[in-house]
Amino acid sequence: LKPIHIIGGGMAGCEAAWQAANLGVPVILHEMRPTRKTEAHQTDGLAELVCSNSFRSDDHVNNAVGLLHEEMRRANGVIISTASEHQVPAGSALAVDRENFSAGITAKLEAHPLITISREEVIGIPPAEWDNVIIATGPLTSPSMAEAIKELTGEEELSFFDAIAPIVYYDSIDMTKAWRQSRYDKPGPSGETDAYINCPLDKEQYLAFLQAMIDAPKTEFKEWEKNTPYFEGCLPVEIMAGRGPETLRYGPLKPVGLTNPHNPTVKAHAIVQLRQDNKLGTLWNIVGFQTKMKYGPQMDVLRMVPGLENAEFARLGGIHRNTFINSPKVLNKKLQLKAHPRIRFAGQVSGVEGYVESAAMGLLAGRFAAYERLGRDIPPPPETTALGSLIAHVTGGHLEGKATFQPMNVNFGLFPDIEEYDKEDPETGKRYRGKDKSRAKKRAQSARALKDIENWLAAQA
Ligand code: FAD
Repeated sequence: LKPIHIIGGGMAGCEAAWQAANLGVPVILHEMRPTRKTEAHQTDGLAELVCSNSFRSDDHVNNAVGLLHEEMRRANGVIISTASEHQVPAGSALAVDRENFSAGITAKLEAHPLITISREEVIGIPPAEWDNVIIATGPLTSPSMAEAIKELTGEEELSFFDAIAPIVYYDSIDMTKAWRQSRYDKPGPSGETDAYINCPLDKEQYLAFLQAMIDAPKTEFKEWEKNTPYFEGCLPVEIMAGRGPETLRYGPLKPVGLTNPHNPTVKAHAIVQLRQDNKLGTLWNIVGFQTKMKYGPQMDVLRMVPGLENAEFARLGGIHRNTFINSPKVLNKKLQLKAHPRIRFAGQVSGVEGYVESAAMGLLAGRFAAYERLGRDIPPPPETTALGSLIAHVTGGHLEGKATFQPMNVNFGLFPDIEEYDKEDPETGKRYRGKDKSRAKKRAQSARALKDIENWLAAQA
């Protein structure tokens, strides 16, 4: 069999190589370190963790990333099994000894008879004779590969920064204070005039909110991040707040064209808007709120907004150096470039966020690529699974046509809703409400996911 070429020996590339090789397909894994370094990697080990040593929660019953761990374990994932082998105490989180973890992955891949590791930077568009390629070059893709990706996808479809506004679970928004309405009731593509959720602030609340944003501790840009092109269009909200009390009132918080049905005679001084973030309508982003506020204070500040007092966040806002493609537009459900199907994308560059999610996309790309080589066609995992929900997010679960695709961690907001779950507490017999109801739903979504992933894997056996 001709080999699959995988570019990048990080979380995604290593997992892809392992999956493909274990299906009996030879792999050449191209990793540029140590010949060429990135700004964040320190070693020449494969699967180096560039920052935290945590794979986050390992609780597969209540937590979406823990569920993703479990699905990857069942799919013989090398990243997750090696993480467990080098685990260090971290409560319910899966944290690792980073050096031993990276050494463990390197040793397993080096020892695999079907994996060849080639230490070189791949420059430019992969040669035409490489008929089955996975690009997994990560958030710090080398500049020459970034240029090649631009050529393959089009200039507009590659980003170098993620400017992420916080995303809130719909269920946690207080709709007795907030309301749905589009500005000036302007109809959307299907005639709807309630596209936004609006949260009103009076003058006192607004000024206190601005001050809290200005005062909140911020994360700093790293020295090397400062040289990356960075546009006025994604200025952190607190910088806008600091430009004067009226800046946001004339920007994303303008109070015009909207009437509060809970209090129609009083005009709001400012209005925070949330826009639907996924097709399912379970996730809503706070418009214009990309921010460098640290996570803890960020939640406290955002919960000052009427209607968001009890907001639960699917992800918090941030601005980071990142390289990723506009995958909903350019990739199909098998992670292939629509315009060049010999090339797949995996990992952070494919539009997910985090070590585990990056490895998960590698797991899928590796399997798709290997089965293609073996002449078999496998479907993507169902969207009810954590793996499938990530594919859905990067290939269109996001709202269609939305200009601002942003990478995402796995979370239950990406899963289809579930009707069948325990509606009452078995001990007290009381009906679940609020957070208890959402926990009961998550447990049911996890159980459904594990059943569905088992079926998906069994169909490949
Ligand atoms: P990587 O793990 O970065 O692997 C990509 C590999 O491709 C690298 O080894 C690189 O050397 C190689 N490469 C690049 N270009 C070429 C080329 N042209 N030819 C050959 N090889 C090439 N996620 C978390 O969950 N927790 C964190 O704490 C965290 N911290 C982060 C900190 C920083 C500074 C950054 C940038 C990201 C962080 N992330 C974090 C996000 C992300 O999950 C990780 O970067 C993760 O490693 C991404 O996996 P990946 O496989 O896509 O890329």
